[in-house]
Amino acid sequence: MLFDRRSLSRLLFWPCVAAGFAGLALTAYNFTPGRADARLLLFSLVALSLGTRVVVKVPRARAYVSLAETFCVLSLFVFGAEGPVLLASFTAVCASLRLTREWRRLLLDGALATLSLLAAGFAVTSYVGAPETLARPETAYAFGLSLLLVAFLQTASGAFVLPPPARPGAPADAPFTPARFFWTFSTKLALASFAGLGALACWRFGLDPFLYAVTAAAVLHFAHAVYQRKDHADRTAADPSGPAPFVAADEGTQLFMGAFEHAAIGMALVSPKGGWLRANRSLCYMLGYTERELLAKGFDGVVHPDDLGQALAHVKDLLRGSTATYQSEKRFINKHGEDVWVLWSVAPIRDSETEEVRLIFQAQDITDRKLSEGRLLHNAFHDALTGLPNRALFIDHVKLTIARSKRRDGHLFAVLFLDLDRFKVINDSLGHMVGDQLLVGIARRLEACLREGDTVARVGGDEFTILLEDIEDEDEAVQVAERIQKELSQPFTLDGREVFTTASIGIAPSSTGYEDPEDILRDADTAMYRAKSAGKARHEVFDRAMHAVAVNLLQLETDLRKALERRELYLVYQPIVGLDDFRLCGFEALVRWNHPERGLVSPLDFIPVAEDTGQIIALGQWALLEACRQMRRWQRSVAADAHLFMSVNLSSKQFNQPDLIEQVRSILTQTRLSPRNLKLEITESAVMENIETATEMLKQLRALGVQLAIDDFGTGYSSLSYLHRFPIDTLKIDRSFVTRMSENNENTEIVRTIVVLAQNLGMDVVAEGVETKEQLALLRRLGCENGQGYYFSRPSSEADAEKIIAETCARPKPAPKQEVPAVVIMDDKVKSVRMIETP
Ligand code: C2E
Ligand code: CA
Ligand code: CA
Repeated sequence: MLFDRRSLSRLLFWPCVAAGFAGLALTAYNFTPGRADARLLLFSLVALSLGTRVVVKVPRARAYVSLAETFCVLSLFVFGAEGPVLLASFTAVCASLRLTREWRRLLLDGALATLSLLAAGFAVTSYVGAPETLARPETAYAFGLSLLLVAFLQTASGAFVLPPPARPGAPADAPFTPARFFWTFSTKLALASFAGLGALACWRFGLDPFLYAVTAAAVLHFAHAVYQRKDHADRTAADPSGPAPFVAADEGTQLFMGAFEHAAIGMALVSPKGGWLRANRSLCYMLGYTERELLAKGFDGVVHPDDLGQALAHVKDLLRGSTATYQSEKRFINKHGEDVWVLWSVAPIRDSETEEVRLIFQAQDITDRKLSEGRLLHNAFHDALTGLPNRALFIDHVKLTIARSKRRDGHLFAVLFLDLDRFKVINDSLGHMVGDQLLVGIARRLEACLREGDTVARVGGDEFTILLEDIEDEDEAVQVAERIQKELSQPFTLDGREVFTTASIGIAPSSTGYEDPEDILRDADTAMYRAKSAGKARHEVFDRAMHAVAVNLLQLETDLRKALERRELYLVYQPIVGLDDFRLCGFEALVRWNHPERGLVSPLDFIPVAEDTGQIIALGQWALLEACRQMRRWQRSVAADAHLFMSVNLSSKQFNQPDLIEQVRSILTQTRLSPRNLKLEITESAVMENIETATEMLKQLRALGVQLAIDDFGTGYSSLSYLHRFPIDTLKIDRSFVTRMSENNENTEIVRTIVVLAQNLGMDVVAEGVETKEQLALLRRLGCENGQGYYFSRPSSEADAEKIIAETCARPKPAPKQEVPAVVIMDDKVKSVRMIETP
């Protein structure tokens, strides 16, 4: 600040006002009302109405000058001193009223207008008066002096006594700098000179000064109106959405600064070069800096490097004027180095004093929203348990890889499909918590086996897929599969115990040239199934033959749907006999499919398909009904032995149906077969899948009076410790042991153990797959009671089986210990039944 304004103001204010009033009083006293002619009155009216309305902005200064002053100077030259002095004090007050309501300001403006015009009037009337005096040099001096006096006195009032308001309505607190003084003084002098020169011109050329004054006033007024309209239009064009949001900022009003400082959102003023000029509290808080620290950092010090380039490009656009405002979501980095997401908007503004362009920023913290958006997005594409990508994301990665491999020739990749071999058993026996831990552990080991850029995903309960990018050849994928299998063979320590697991892996190399990610995934899945059926814990590479098999299976599935309706399925019956006396104990019902094109299809081929597709439920129900009906028919037609039973296979899917008991009961009622004559065969693994519910189901079946057998015993996960809990009548020793039995080998030992075990548990035993005399002899020695196999009879048609029953039941029971075959079919036409020799 140039002067100590407060003390000067206090010192000068009242003397100025007093002098002004004294001058006014003196002028009023000297004023003869007769001189107030119509022209003066009319002129005063113009000055008051137009002059006070037009305010000229002082260039490079926060100040305005009213044209009323110019009118008063003009009137001085036209009408002489007194009238214009009165007019000046009055118009000055009126003009000030348009800017402020502050009484001190009004008093001072009125007083100084009076004083300045008195002083100028004195100079003018002393030397200037008639046209003939114009040529005299004193006239020029007096003239110039009067103008200087007017301009100086009026400017000084603002500089030394009371600064004028910066704009209408604003408080008068802007410091009056030397520059502001100079520009205000120059403007006033120029305007006064304009009036004075006009008056001189009138005298010189004999124009009517009154007409000139009115015309000039009208032109000025018109020009001002045009200027204002253009200014408004420019501002609106700069921002079509309305007035620029911070138009007030260039005025630096307290109101604006208050709003800026206390705004709930972050705000800052930034120079075009990227330096912070000001930052409000919210912004500092948001970024964790003090204002001083923030201002020292610079714009590029807090914008995230990844977002900086784009942000600067937009700022450039703003400065160039190609956009008016710019809004986007960007990251800042706070003092602790963390990302802060902000929604920011930027607009350029021009400083009215310096004419410089600044950028005003508003920044709203949206980090929480961004984080939850990110979480949602992550959840949509990731598995919640392991955090691995899910199927959707995996498919997406494969899609990108396929596209990349098309662009680059020779770019090979592979998809691996991995399925755990006994996850269900682990899950059911050790609980879901342990199962989940195992899956997480496997996910981590899989990740550790892969290179960066490869993708591992969890696509199902215990299924994982792996995308190997950029491999040299198929062998590399095989090596990865081997590495994974080796890694997974190490035990997991879960819940304090060691858990072992293995996985079957299918490998689909990209050489198949598929377009669709689902296709390549399907191939990997097919190869995985092949690995599973080839004995688990191994890997297989997909080839075309597998594809053919898969297509074939698909066809089989379609055909099987129709098979039941078209009556292409039928049952055959294989006798089960007592080994010591060859008496007929019962039959096992086995399903057959007479396919219209393929001929006879083995149940080993279509039962697994039926199980996979769920068709086994209908098929199984049909088989049960048909077998029971048949048994009942035989009981009636050939008076079959009341102890004869019908063994029917139940798949694990059937066994897990909640309404199985109801179905069995209803079939028994429907066929009127006694439950004693029905034996249900359930595989060991079906029972072990879920021990608790299986035990319950077995108990309920037993309560119905039905007999129960465990099929293929010895091949499943050994359940010896559970066996005593199951209400089982029969153990069927799996064919594989019987076939490979020879004197004192391991298989013989297994059979012996099973026989002893069954005896201890009060169960009987059936040896499956008895084909030779030797096997029969050995089984007898081991104490095995019953047998089933080609040695006795192949599965027979309904008619042949009936003959067998008729034959054995028609004969009197052979005496015990007499080594005579019980099932002897004399009729040669019955090919399926073998003659049985006495061993
Ligand atoms: P399974 O229950 O173990 O049935 C015994 C299988 O061994 C039968 O094969 C039978 O023909 C065969 N077999 C019997 N004696 C001998 C022998 O001395 N030597 C040899 N090599 N094989 C012998 P099949 O009929 O092909 O049935 C295969 C499997 O299909 C059955 O094995 C059973 O698991 C399933 N199955 C058959 N019918 C049904 C059914 O109605 N329902 C369900 N769920 N499964 C069935
Ligand atoms: Ca069976
Ligand atoms: Ca079996």
